[in-house]
Amino acid sequence: MTETATEEKLTFQAEVSRLLDIVAHSLYSEKEIFLRELISNAADACDRLRYEAQTRPELATSDQPFKITLTIDKPNRQLTASDNGIGMSRDELVKNLGTIARSGTSAFLKGLTGDSKKDLNLIGQFGVGFYSAFMVADRVDVTSRRAGEEHAHRWSSDGKGEFSVALAERDAAGTDVTLHLKAEEDEFLSDYRIKEVVRRYSDHVPVPIELRIGSDKTSLNDGSALWQKPKSEITETQYKEFYRHVAHAMDEPWLTIHHRAEGTIEYTALLYVPTSRPLDLFNPDRRHRVKLYLKRVFITDDAKDLLPAWMRFLQGVVDTPDLPLNVSRELLQKNPLLSKIRSGLTRKVLSELARKAKDDPEVYIAFWESFGACLKEGLYEDKGEYRADILKLSRFHSTASDKPVTLDEYIQRMKEGQDAIYTISGDDLQALRASPQLEGFAAKGVEVLLLTDAVDEFWMPAVGTYEGKAFKSATRGALDLDKIKGEEKGTPKAEDAPAELGALIALFKLALGDEVKDVRASARLTDSAVCLVAGEGDLDMRLERLLRQHKQLDKAMKRVLELNPTHPLVKRLAEMTGKEGASAVLEEAAHLLLDQARLLEGEPVADPRAFAKRLGAMMERGLAV
Ligand code: ADP
Ligand code: MG
Repeated sequence: MTETATEEKLTFQAEVSRLLDIVAHSLYSEKEIFLRELISNAADACDRLRYEAQTRPELATSDQPFKITLTIDKPNRQLTASDNGIGMSRDELVKNLGTIARSGTSAFLKGLTGDSKKDLNLIGQFGVGFYSAFMVADRVDVTSRRAGEEHAHRWSSDGKGEFSVALAERDAAGTDVTLHLKAEEDEFLSDYRIKEVVRRYSDHVPVPIELRIGSDKTSLNDGSALWQKPKSEITETQYKEFYRHVAHAMDEPWLTIHHRAEGTIEYTALLYVPTSRPLDLFNPDRRHRVKLYLKRVFITDDAKDLLPAWMRFLQGVVDTPDLPLNVSRELLQKNPLLSKIRSGLTRKVLSELARKAKDDPEVYIAFWESFGACLKEGLYEDKGEYRADILKLSRFHSTASDKPVTLDEYIQRMKEGQDAIYTISGDDLQALRASPQLEGFAAKGVEVLLLTDAVDEFWMPAVGTYEGKAFKSATRGALDLDKIKGEEKGTPKAEDAPAELGALIALFKLALGDEVKDVRASARLTDSAVCLVAGEGDLDMRLERLLRQHKQLDKAMKRVLELNPTHPLVKRLAEMTGKEGASAVLEEAAHLLLDQARLLEGEPVADPRAFAKRLGAMMERGLAV
């Protein structure tokens, strides 16, 4: 024997201790969910062994068929969940039950506030899996033997910072999770209670579950696959609990799609859209979480081509009889059958979303807020095949409404003479609503869409137009708002501009030199004195900022400084142009106004020291009581 027979003590990863602490102190009102978590893990372990045994048949020698056994030991106050699945090696026990591997999880745990109410709410959406056993047990033993290995190991812990691992005995591959129940948790020694809990949460699990007390054995579920049953035989609770099982989730499914395709290709899909956005939705490694089955036998949860990446919020299963039985991962890639299933499912999901958007627009907004940014990637992926559907499903914040609007609503509200869909991009909705560049639009009553997702900068150039109307940035290029017949609430008029405006602009250009691309009179401004815009044909300012953040661009591009010709300050400066000795003051003013425009844009001033000095000097000259 190469391994030490003696027990080894190890400490939990800090995040696990944190989680266990919360598990011990706050907790769900329904403690019974621990059983669902253990059964779910046992069923996963069976799926994994079934899958590995396809390529390593020697692994499948244990006592098949797959089975989950719950054993009640009243005298010793123990409840054990056993399976004959894949099992865990010593290292796997340490890693899987001592650290948190799920992506996004440790970032999430670091983000916990310490305010137990808020934290509980977060955890409620997220689930604690195996660790939920410590809600009802003051010690948990896990005896496990990995398929293909000779030795078993026992992991043991009271959930207080440490656990131990030691060599152990087990006849065959699989895992026993034994809970030493807390004094007040007697109810889980009652067969009646266990039956009830299994029926409530785990009836759909596609592995048979058996209850044992002494020599008594009772079968607790039928072990058949829920997705193969007719819809009429499935209750809403069963759908919901199956979602929680496959998705490892704690929230409610926002949408359930149970769909059977018959004809040239056959498949059954049970797909779910979650209510809350998963923590890792925008992690570059994130894929959809839909499992692929072949006639109820689990194949893989890694069939990349089964659904588009922009539907990676979906959870659930797809079962098809049409794949060869020992299909390899390589074969699964670019498999023509899978691409047919993929387009069938994509269309189905889009049409279900459209139906929901129509039938229940308020509820649809909640989906859009969670997953819209993801769905919009589909506007430029898949060669634009789903573009038309996704544009109809898209919702936008807008200057015309507190509620997100559709593109069709925007088009309906367009003013006479308006030929573009105006947009403005930024990270913060409140800041966008207050943008100086929107003043001219507001004065004319022209609606502008407020775009806050980074992905907006990528789909808009790809899509270009909607119903023949071009998307046009409100912060780029010269604006010709004059030709739009709007409401005319104080829009600047050329004749109100001071006579010396041209001279002022020339002077500003000279003073600012290379710092700006151009200086010109603005048609956008009514209240503010200045703003920055991108030159026609240049990158929009938001996109440029994004590219710089991602190091795709190293230098800031030059911007156009626009002056409001009817603003009192601009008028005053214009009047000064011809005056003796004014040029030094005007030069300072040019720099100050440029920095002011940068600040309004949420960008830093170029040279804070110079800015402070100029501002100080200007105040000194101007302050009086
Ligand atoms: P999750 O199931 O979401 O991954 P859990 O906390 O429930 O998270 O389980 C953590 C990990 O421990 C699982 O991913 C799995 O690798 C391992 N595990 C738990 N129970 C078993 C089991 N009965 N058999 C094999 N592995 C298991
Ligand atoms: Mg689990």
